[in-house]
This record gives sequence, C-alpha cells and structure tokens, in this order.
Amino acid sequence: ETPLVQIRNLKKYFKVGNRLLKAVNNFTLDIYSGETIGLVGESGCGKSTAGRTILRLYEPSEGEVLFEGQNIYQLSENEMKNIRRQMQIIFQDPYASLNPRMTVEDIIGEPLDIHKLASGQKRRERVQGLLEYVGLSSEHMSRFPHEFSGGQRQRIGIARALAVDPRFIVCDEPISALDVSIQAQVVNLLKDLQKSMGLTYLFIAHDLSMVRYISDRILVMYLGNMVELADSSALHNEPLHPYTQALLSAIPIPDPKIEKSRERIVLEGEVPSPINPPEGCAFCTRCPKAMDICKVTAPEWKEVKENHFAACHLFA
Ligand code: SF4
Ligand code: MG
Repeated sequence: ETPLVQIRNLKKYFKVGNRLLKAVNNFTLDIYSGETIGLVGESGCGKSTAGRTILRLYEPSEGEVLFEGQNIYQLSENEMKNIRRQMQIIFQDPYASLNPRMTVEDIIGEPLDIHKLASGQKRRERVQGLLEYVGLSSEHMSRFPHEFSGGQRQRIGIARALAVDPRFIVCDEPISALDVSIQAQVVNLLKDLQKSMGLTYLFIAHDLSMVRYISDRILVMYLGNMVELADSSALHNEPLHPYTQALLSAIPIPDPKIEKSRERIVLEGEVPSPINPPEGCAFCTRCPKAMDICKVTAPEWKEVKENHFAACHLFA
C-alpha cells in the first residue's frame, strides 16, 4: 500500500535576525489512508510548523512531501489548487480563525466559491447539509461567529474544512482552546467523520491525554526533532524515550490508588530556544537519563522494536 502522504527529510528554518531558527529538523513520516497520526510535543516544538509545511502553507527549507506519490513542492500554484482541495486544516482557535464579519453561510461556502464547486441554491443546500453533518442546525446559516459557543465555532471550522471533500486534514490542536467538557464531543465528531468520509488525520496536540483515543500511531517531537514514533498503545504502555516517559507521567490517572503509588517525572528547566539549541541530543539539558555522549552527539533515529522508533543513545 502506498502511503497517502510521504514526508521525506522535511526541514523548515526561519531567519531571525542573522540567525536560523530550526523549527523543523529532518521530519520523515509515511501517513496511510484512513489512519490518524497524533503529533505531540510542548508548545514551540515545531508541530504546527510541520503541519503547515506539509500542506505547503509554508514553503520548505529542504525535503519533500508526496501526496499520492506526487511531490507537491514541484507543482505550480495552479496545479497545487487541486491538491489544496484534498488537504485541509482545522485551526486551534475557533475564535480567531473564523472571520467575524462573515455569516456562517459564507464562512462555510467560501471554499466552495474558491474551488468553483457550487453556487446559488446548490451552495446553500451544501452549506445546510454540512452544518447538520457537524451537529449544528441549518437555521444558524445567517448568524455570525460571535453568536456561537467555542465548541460550536469549532464545528463551523470543521464544516468549512469538509466543504471541499478533502482526504487529508491537519487538525492543529482543534480542542486545546475548548472546555474539557466539550473536548470529547469534538474528538468524537472528528472520529465519526473520519469513518463516514474515509478521512486521514494528522492530529496535533500538546499533551498525550486525548491523543491516545483518536490516534492509531503517535509521533512525539521535541525542539524540532522527532523523538519517538509508535502505535498508540505501544507508546502508552512501553514508552522508550525519556521525554515521552515524562509527558506520560504528567497525565493524571483517575484511579487514586495508582495515582498515589506512581512515580512522576518532573522535567527541570525550560524548553531551550530553538535559535540556540543544545549540542548533541536536543533533550540533554532536561533529560533525567542524560549521559556524557548525549551532550556531544545527536542520537540517530532507529527502529528499536518492530514499528517502534526512537532517537536516543539509550538504544544505540
Ligand atoms: Fe536523554 Fe541522552 Fe536519550 Fe537524549 S539521547 S533522551 S539526553 S538519554
Ligand atoms: Mg501550535
């Protein structure tokens, strides 16, 4: 089976003054049709930048992204149009990402205009259908974003992304700005839509708690680097990388007996600046298991167990 999206040695650097901010270093991943990859790491680790560069909302510094075998960075803007229809994004902040002066009908209808997919009564019906599809009443068509709750706004953002019948969606922290009580509803909606529409997701989040329930596989990033990739259950049950272990130990366990007896790994210090990352392993300034070699040599990405990858000298 050919992966739907193949990402090869993708790098994205930004110039900051006369220095380079290496937001994404050597990102390599195959994403298969119908699966959900969870992409996890603390804020500023390059997750959103990776997501946007994969969609070519940013041009890469190096590397390639193949969509159904086609290198999207080699396409002209005109050729890109058809690909853009198939690759959509759902944003973190449903407050900031919807134009406050547009009605719901136009917010959801705009992608249909851009891709010339429907107009007039057909467009109206399509928008009505999409609203109902994401669990909102079609009576809301003429309202404005401020008239909705955060969860409802995220549903509008999802309907907008779905309008053009995409195949691959980057969900950039779609639940982080929502109340905890609403988060599960939106995750369940995304799961249902995935089943009925055959969608493929890259689901970005800053912690592992919700990601577990939606992801088939999980990729953990730290300071622009991939540190671990595994099936969701393997990553939770046998995390290899010390950073993944620390992220997992930060999730509260509902059972107080287990919670009490559990060892919590507290990471010292702040995430270093990506403009001035540590030598060697990027995690060495905070890693409880750091060794001498870690401060000098960056660890290689390696398949430690079957389908379970990590970059750490503990597994050299
Ligand atoms: Fe820790 Fe060294 Fe592994 Fe980096 S390579 S995660 S510093 S043990
Ligand atoms: Mg982000």
